[in-house]
Amino acid sequence: MRASILALPLLATLMMTACKSEQAAPAAPAAAPAAAAAPQRVDEHSYAEPQKVVVSDLALDLDLDFDSKTLAGTATLSLDWKDKTATELRLDTRDLTIEKAEGDDGKGGWVPLKFRLAGIDPILGAKLTVETPNRNAKVRVTYRTSPKASGLQWMEPSMTEGKQLPFMFSQSQQIHARSWVPLQDTPSVRYTYSARIKSRPEVMVLMSADNDPNAARDGDYTFRMPQKIPSYLMAIAAGDLKFQFISDRSGVWAEPAMLDRAVKEFADTEKMIVTAEGLYGRYRWDRYDMLVLPPSFPYGGMENPRLTFLTPTVIVGDKSLVSLIAHELAHSWSGNLVTFSSAKDAWLNEGFTSYVENRIVEALYGRDQADMENVIERNELKKEFAEIDPKLQVLATAPGVLADPDNSSSATVYTKGAWLLHFLEERFGREKFDAFLRGYFDHFAFQSIDSEQFAKYAKANLLDKYPNIVSQGEFEEWLYKPGIPANAPHVQARRFGVVDSARLAWLGSRQLPPRVITDAWISQEWVHFIESLPDTMTLEQLAQLDAAYNFSGTLNGEIAQRWYPLAINNGYTQANDAIAAFLKRVGRRKLIVPTYQALVKTEAGLTLAKQVFEEAKPAYHPITTGTVQEIIAKAQPAPSPVAQPAMPPDADAAAAPAAGSAG
Ligand SMILES: [Zn+2]
Repeated sequence: MRASILALPLLATLMMTACKSEQAAPAAPAAAPAAAAAPQRVDEHSYAEPQKVVVSDLALDLDLDFDSKTLAGTATLSLDWKDKTATELRLDTRDLTIEKAEGDDGKGGWVPLKFRLAGIDPILGAKLTVETPNRNAKVRVTYRTSPKASGLQWMEPSMTEGKQLPFMFSQSQQIHARSWVPLQDTPSVRYTYSARIKSRPEVMVLMSADNDPNAARDGDYTFRMPQKIPSYLMAIAAGDLKFQFISDRSGVWAEPAMLDRAVKEFADTEKMIVTAEGLYGRYRWDRYDMLVLPPSFPYGGMENPRLTFLTPTVIVGDKSLVSLIAHELAHSWSGNLVTFSSAKDAWLNEGFTSYVENRIVEALYGRDQADMENVIERNELKKEFAEIDPKLQVLATAPGVLADPDNSSSATVYTKGAWLLHFLEERFGREKFDAFLRGYFDHFAFQSIDSEQFAKYAKANLLDKYPNIVSQGEFEEWLYKPGIPANAPHVQARRFGVVDSARLAWLGSRQLPPRVITDAWISQEWVHFIESLPDTMTLEQLAQLDAAYNFSGTLNGEIAQRWYPLAINNGYTQANDAIAAFLKRVGRRKLIVPTYQALVKTEAGLTLAKQVFEEAKPAYHPITTGTVQEIIAKAQPAPSPVAQPAMPPDADAAAAPAAGSAG
């Protein structure tokens, strides 16, 4: 996924969110005590008992109904009983209505089974226990979802690009699959699945499975996922979707109005697949297609196998944000192929993927772009690490630390994780390290592992194989200690030197850099330019930049998420209309949260934030709505700032780059 809940520039909000969900339900057990009460649990965020029984295959037969905003039907679980004395099957659910449980009788028929649904834990949901004294080979559960299912978003036609047909999509990571299927919702269990989905004949239904680009739209669809996947990769979407090929094995699904632009932006996808295959072995999932979702998708992307789900906010016209595709594609090796066995080890998924993403970007777009992306991410890490609990800065998170798996630190799992691999690459050299990584993906293919298994493998196949290059102590510091080790390799982004000179020259002289320079800048250079501007600026300075570069009203969310807070903090109200339009158009949390956080700092801003949120809310995903509500509820606004009327006399002093921004 890119990026998770904590992939937000200002972490305080997220920690606030986490704190609040704990405070909101004082009677409910937090995850840590729950885990302590059930020490044999394999994954502290799941009620499943895979040491006793494992789901090996799932068959869904569901009606997808836009009017009631529900999925309803049956889930048939094929079971592999490990414990021949077990008498129960424990499954994860959240907000599901369970109507019936049955077991196969071994003769082609079904017999009723007793079941009970436990009380609701606010994070884990409700444990479903099915009594299986005969350890049936299959159990069939008849159920329906809630319109408020945390893993599904249902959208009215007015919230879509085409405005004609409704839209729905899922987001199962981290533990939201249980809100639309009763299952063992833990990445430690992998299974194959099939599905028959019936819906309105005019909508196309897609899943993280073998979508047929030529399938007829007839309201009756069947799917098969023949490779074993963990539950967080279960995915479904339905809407007015059309397909266009990029290459024989890759293409784009999108609403018709979006399709051409998306295909153009993602034209390099086949080249990315070939690049990744050259590094880490063949692509093992047959097709690689992408689904462009409405702007309300709360994340950047989700690596649902065979069908990556994407935000449309990366379609900016110059391919400068397609590292998101490199990221989601990289998951086809790191994550989808070799999965982390519980959220404690999420870095095995996202850290490896961020590293592989950067290697694909370097191979396709050059070292400069890869370096710039590294510098931007590591600057964000420094900011996040200055604010978060050291326990959350550890790659191999200790048991009980992560109450809600949605609240892991993105700086830790994405950036520090990737940094460790970069460190190993630098020390052992690319040739040895690439061979090691390729061997690792082959060795653990289609398995779920933890940090200890990785450490053991790395010791045997890297540290001990090439002795005296990295000590066990150095390696363990990366895995088990907070912060970034002193021996971490640093990256300089050559092209940011030009950006820094241009910024300092402008702050000193008011002379903007020549067009011939800025016309060649891509998103990363603009991001660095804005991020390094002084916190306090005059209206005149802001207006000059805005007139020259049209920052207000930009369709580039990476620029918008940095420009608008700067404008708001300095009382540049000329941007207010553009800010309101941006917040109503985009629901991707990472992009809009900094702007809401800046707005609520003043009374006038808070009023604007509330007005905009009221209008924008129907199109936001529940995850985004919750975050924005939290920001508004916690607001303690000060009187609106008095804008600086003129250039400060000591402009050079004000031009010192923000701490950590020079990378
Ligand atoms: Zn990811």
